[in-house]
Amino acid sequence: MTKPVIEVEALAKSFGDNEVLKDITEKVEPGQVIVVIGPSGGGKSTFLRCLNLLETPTSGKVAFEGQDLTTLDTKSVNALREKMGMVFQGFNLFPNMTVLENIKLAPMKVKKTDDAAATKRAHELLTRVGLDDHADAFPTSLSGGQAQRVAIARALAMDPKVMLFDEPTSALDPEMVGEVLNVMQELAKEGMTMVVVTHEMGFAKSVGDRIWFMADGYIQENNTPDNFFAHPETDRAKDFLSKIL
Ligand code: ADP
Ligand code: MG
Repeated sequence: MTKPVIEVEALAKSFGDNEVLKDITEKVEPGQVIVVIGPSGGGKSTFLRCLNLLETPTSGKVAFEGQDLTTLDTKSVNALREKMGMVFQGFNLFPNMTVLENIKLAPMKVKKTDDAAATKRAHELLTRVGLDDHADAFPTSLSGGQAQRVAIARALAMDPKVMLFDEPTSALDPEMVGEVLNVMQELAKEGMTMVVVTHEMGFAKSVGDRIWFMADGYIQENNTPDNFFAHPETDRAKDFLSKIL
């Protein structure tokens, strides 16, 4: 048995009186693509942020490769966090650096990779996302789809064990959604472990190994895409699907 990449046990998170995550116990196995879907305000972003401790859980356990993050000191958490790449809705590229510099920054600063090796790797990653010809461009000159592909390359530069995506295409013009989803699909094919919050149901169906339907602070259903979309079990999921499909 291989260890789960991420293991969450009785995870709860409140903001004041607002119990956003109530009791979540799930595992992410190596190579799995988990697609988290559900209504807005249902706690999806909070959940993702709890996985790498960008939010501190109120109670429960979050383990990464068998290590309970909630018991570790800040330094150890930071070290493990480097192994979890994260891509948000906004692209968050550093505007005063070129595309290449954006990608090289963390490997050089955090991993102490030397300039030549970081440059080589950055070019490889840019080629992979189809943007090596934009290596010397500044982020403001990129389209949203290009910027998001650079953000993915930047996350990959740290050689993460898992990639967390929070609605990576929600801020994009429709014609740019596909190019970002394609990069994510390629990544999945190469075996990357991924947790993806998205409203792109086509991606969920064709790339997801499991759908986690999250609403009201719980994962209400954990199912294969085929089963989830054809036979949702809960009224909550049926209601959600009737509104979006
Ligand atoms: P989703 O991503 O599914 O739309 P979120 O995790 O963003 O849901 O939000 C779930 C709930 O948590 C919302 O009621 C939101 O207002 C609340 N929330 C999220 N982040 C914070 C925060 N930093 N402080 C207070 N409340 C928050
Ligand atoms: Mg969200």
